[in-house]
Amino acid sequence: MLDEQDVMELLLLRGAEQERLFERARAVRQEVFGSEVVVRGVSEITNQCRVNCVFCPMRRDNTRHNSDFRMDTERLVDIAASVRANDIDVVFFQGGEIPQTTRVVGEAIPAVRELYDGDVEILLNLGNKRRGEYEYLREQGATSYILKFETSDPTLNERMRRETLESRLTCLRDLLDLGYRVGTGSIIGLPDQDVASVARDLVFARDLGVHMCSVAPFVPAPDTPLAGHQGGDVELTLNAIAVSRLLGPSWLIPSVSALSKRAGEGQYRGLMAGANVITVNFTPDEQRDRYLIYGRDRFVVKRDYARDVIARAGLTPRGSVFLDATAGPAAPCLPQHTSGAA
Ligand code: SF4
Repeated sequence: MLDEQDVMELLLLRGAEQERLFERARAVRQEVFGSEVVVRGVSEITNQCRVNCVFCPMRRDNTRHNSDFRMDTERLVDIAASVRANDIDVVFFQGGEIPQTTRVVGEAIPAVRELYDGDVEILLNLGNKRRGEYEYLREQGATSYILKFETSDPTLNERMRRETLESRLTCLRDLLDLGYRVGTGSIIGLPDQDVASVARDLVFARDLGVHMCSVAPFVPAPDTPLAGHQGGDVELTLNAIAVSRLLGPSWLIPSVSALSKRAGEGQYRGLMAGANVITVNFTPDEQRDRYLIYGRDRFVVKRDYARDVIARAGLTPRGSVFLDATAGPAAPCLPQHTSGAA
């Protein structure tokens, strides 16, 4: 089993050795998933957020300057209908962390499930919530949930998110315990983060017992305290994707749009490094321009682009791998004492 030192060495590979790492990761992906890439359809449902992450333009301190939006239940169902019309069976709702999303999304889920006659994965990324809220959303028919820890270093985490790592881990434990298929992940290129810290993040994610894991390069965004900080290293991020595949062969690992934002061929290279998920954006134009995740100038993945990237990587699109998970058993246990891992 790879330890932190092994991971660190793999993260530093470049040139021919890096290519061999990618080949190894692709071989592991092939063994578990064949040549298939999961395609998701996402809609961003609100840009309001009560959290104050220093890297994010939607942070609480920016609320007054941002033109905010919050979609209603009917809108979510309409968007899900467009996702369905594009033959995508993973409906992904993501938004800032505010309590109001629980009811809006919870009320939309049964109608979305009806659109698909039940054959749909409902994936959420709505931040920390109380266990009872996660329970309600699961009962309504949510399948999976993404909650990234961003960095496993508790001090850096609090500096970046202005919240404790532990509060996020409590939510991750709740989600796993409630039977969600759970995703987590980290950012590469945060201030004062070295390669050893990135290696610890990846091993930390493995030890959480999650089903999906992403790594994304840091993208400096305007109007944030980190606006002047340099962006995350794309090569390091690609190696982290490949190492993630070795650490979690059955993980869903997205090739994220931030990779294309940082480098033209970024998402294609993510697939070539062992990733197996692409997310197509279905947020209506009017709201999408206000969802400032990387500032106004973000890279938006459309259906044709996703299809092209997948084909160029010699792969084929597929639907959800979690369709049997709607009322499934609890996921693997999250260790109760994870705070020492950083
Ligand atoms: S990263 Fe997420 S939780 Fe943090 S401020 Fe932005 S929307 Fe809120």
